[in-house]
Amino acid sequence: MDLLRSTRGLIMSIEFNGKTSVKYPIPETMKACVLGDPDELSLIEKPIVMPGKAEVLIKIDAVAICATDLDVISHGPPALIEGGLPFNKNFTPGHEYMGTVVALGPSVDEFEIGDRVTVEIHSGCGQCKRCRMGMYTSCHNYGLNYGNVNKGHRANGFTTDGGFKQYAVNNINTLIKVPYSMTDEEATLVVTAGTTMYGLTELGGLIAGESLVVIGPGPIGLLGVAVAKALGAGPVILIGTRDSRLEIGKRLGADHTLNVKNEKDIVQSVKSIVGEKGADYVIECAGSKEALNDAIMMTNRGGKICLAAFPHKPVEINIPHMVINNIYMFGIRGEGKSATHRAMQFMKEKRFDAKLVHTHTFNLADLPTALKYARERIDDAIKIVIKPWS
Ligand SMILES: [Zn+2]
Ligand SMILES: [Zn+2]
Repeated sequence: MDLLRSTRGLIMSIEFNGKTSVKYPIPETMKACVLGDPDELSLIEKPIVMPGKAEVLIKIDAVAICATDLDVISHGPPALIEGGLPFNKNFTPGHEYMGTVVALGPSVDEFEIGDRVTVEIHSGCGQCKRCRMGMYTSCHNYGLNYGNVNKGHRANGFTTDGGFKQYAVNNINTLIKVPYSMTDEEATLVVTAGTTMYGLTELGGLIAGESLVVIGPGPIGLLGVAVAKALGAGPVILIGTRDSRLEIGKRLGADHTLNVKNEKDIVQSVKSIVGEKGADYVIECAGSKEALNDAIMMTNRGGKICLAAFPHKPVEINIPHMVINNIYMFGIRGEGKSATHRAMQFMKEKRFDAKLVHTHTFNLADLPTALKYARERIDDAIKIVIKPWS
């Protein structure tokens, strides 16, 4: 009997007890990018693994590049493969993908072959303390797939194979149905919008009529503006350094934009809009020491800060000011608590046009060039999408 090594490190038989369709014949191998040494990607043929219990096989139609992919490919963390760095382990990165369900694992009746779906990254183990609280993006068994396969957790593109390839196995809990009116490219952005939705959920959710500042107009910051506006926040202020991105922020709903380069004192500029007491909420998406301290100083007493980015090393921040003023700070990890479903509802209803952040499209063979565009922001690149079949 032929044996295949699955993405979970299990040895699986190619005898498959689930369901397939003649409409979507599944080949034995697929094109996949794998990570060798840091920044070294190669395009190879990989065996296609069939889905197990509670899983489906997705034919990937589009996958977006995220800043975290750049970190993984150049430095390793937060990817964790076989208990360590992801280099030279036949690992495929990429986590913001969408596609078509082409095979159902045994007993899966929640989805049908032919369904268009977009995916969350994290499928929690379902048995640890955090998973039981619905916090599956903070699963205590993160990264233990290879060390202990029975732990069940997977985070595709981080601890298990990701989406820079043509097919992927996903747990049904990570799937969000995509309406036929939505393009492939837009559907890859649901997890980005879902991440900001999770942040706003953790801040309390009821932000209608509250003032809100977003620092850093990257994809998360820009869609943070859109989601906050859709939830009724106002005024919404976007802070950045590139006028072209601030302009997109306006089109996504920002009531005011501030270019740090033109402002003498950014905290004072915010206060001149929201009032001297400061903003009710700040979503910090820049991750620099300066931005973190600005966020603290522009938040009003009892206000809340969401940390959607992080500095690469420990930094000094004004804790006394936070404590004296009862300012809350929330770290968020990923797209937790099913926030992607709430984000998808907004996108389905066209409450904002997420497509505005999609700037470039490349094919799989051009992934290294696409990553260079993302890293160096060539041609004002914001969100770059890879089409694995073109
Ligand atoms: Zn991402
Ligand atoms: Zn767990």
